Amino acid sequence: MNGGRDIIVVGAGQAGFQAAASLREAGFDGSLTIIGDEPVAPYQRPPLSKAYLAGKATAGTLALRPASFYADHRITLRLGEQAALIDRPVQQLELTSGERLCYDHLILATGARNRSLPVPGADLAGVLQLRTLADAEDVQRYLAGVESVVVVGAGFIGLEFAAVAAARGIAVTVVEFADRVMSRAVSRPTSAFFRAAHEAAGIRFAFGVGVGRITGADGHVTAVETTDGRAFAADLVLVGIGVVPNVELAAEAGLAVADGILVDQALLTSDPSISAIGDCATFPNSFAGNAPTRIESVQNAVDQARCVAARLTGRAASYAALPWFWSDQGGWKLQIAGLANPHDLTVTRGDPAQGAFSVFCYRQDRLVGVESVNRPADHMIARRLIAERLPLVPDQAADLALDLRALIRTAAA
Ligand code: FAD
Ligand code: NDP
Repeated sequence: MNGGRDIIVVGAGQAGFQAAASLREAGFDGSLTIIGDEPVAPYQRPPLSKAYLAGKATAGTLALRPASFYADHRITLRLGEQAALIDRPVQQLELTSGERLCYDHLILATGARNRSLPVPGADLAGVLQLRTLADAEDVQRYLAGVESVVVVGAGFIGLEFAAVAAARGIAVTVVEFADRVMSRAVSRPTSAFFRAAHEAAGIRFAFGVGVGRITGADGHVTAVETTDGRAFAADLVLVGIGVVPNVELAAEAGLAVADGILVDQALLTSDPSISAIGDCATFPNSFAGNAPTRIESVQNAVDQARCVAARLTGRAASYAALPWFWSDQGGWKLQIAGLANPHDLTVTRGDPAQGAFSVFCYRQDRLVGVESVNRPADHMIARRLIAERLPLVPDQAADLALDLRALIRTAAA
């Protein structure tokens, strides 16, 4: 067994949970411990900005597995405990309590934390973020009594939250540095569609500006002033301006760290006894010309965890899974296959005016990403097209009369 007898996972999030579950599934029978600094067992984050805030899911339904799963699979869950130091020469992990645990292999799945907004007033009551269940509970509590909200950042969190708030009849303004929504993640046609859809739902946007300061009364937020001198009333501010990977534990242990913790194709760090997976890991991505890439998604966390579990149970494994993402915003389901940015050509299949279409993104004549809105079948086909690098020229992508499923069958035959 390559992983030895004692495996410790740091981080009880999506990746950490999956690594432990997949290790047991693959037959690992040594000791398995997960250290998690949140007080709750591993849960799904995606519903926090969607069904949970919309009142369609409760905290109890978010758990990735019932409590009995961990006992049944001999996984020791140590919650509310933080890993403080890795003593690599003796292969020990020290917790903040001072307790030391020995490992044969250590899996770092420390995830990421929200970037904070460095402006005056950001510490006022009612200026909130969304990463953990505790954050979502706070937001939920506040939402009950507010009339106007300012969202900072038109990324996934900002837009998903804005859609939920607007649907509750709250006046929403979104402030965004860039000139369009989700600029890091999607093409211009998809951005334009979502901007129009959100505006039709009553959401107002301020593009190309940042937040100058946040003002308040009696310690509570009342307005957001943008860098162009405008002021927007707000009794809740939701900051969704991206994340910072949790790399400090690795960096202090002398592991190679760039943006995230640097790993090779097998997801091993610069120490062969330590792997890193999920939001905290920077890996050579075959869908980005092997450039060092850090991906923040459930797919990436789950597939990287499975890959490490396979390696630690004796199956050679190299990480090469296709990245894919989804986002639910109001009535729109966005699904993305591949890494669309950068691209030099987009082709639209279907009609955005009908609310169902896919944007095929090409880089130097190669299909690199497909963004589908309310066209789930396109998304599933796109995953195969990109993963298997099957040929599809732009004219074919745009031709609704062409059966893409049949084309895949022929190409793969
Ligand atoms: P995390 O889930 O962040 O877990 C890491 C855990 O490690 C955390 O609990 C952290 O507190 C803990 N930790 C860190 N350091 C230590 C330490 N030293 N000791 C002990 N514990 C530590 N992705 C999608 O693909 N689709 C979506 O629709 C989607 N929606 C999302 C909605 C929200 C509101 C958020 C916040 C994220 C969403 N994501 C979505 C992103 C997705 O949830 C993350 O990419 C995924 O959770 C990453 O998993 P992870 O295990 O790497 O990190
Ligand atoms: P994103 O990086 O997606 O978006 C942040 C946005 O905020 C960017 O457009 C960024 O612009 C902008 N921004 C940054 N600083 C400022 C500022 N000071 N003022 C105004 N705008 C600013 O991060 P999110 O916060 O939306 O999401 C956080 C994490 O949660 C990510 O890991 C994300 O993947 C994950 N998540 C994923 C979801 C999904 O996949 N469906 C859903 C919800 C969350 P610029 O790029 O120019 O810096």
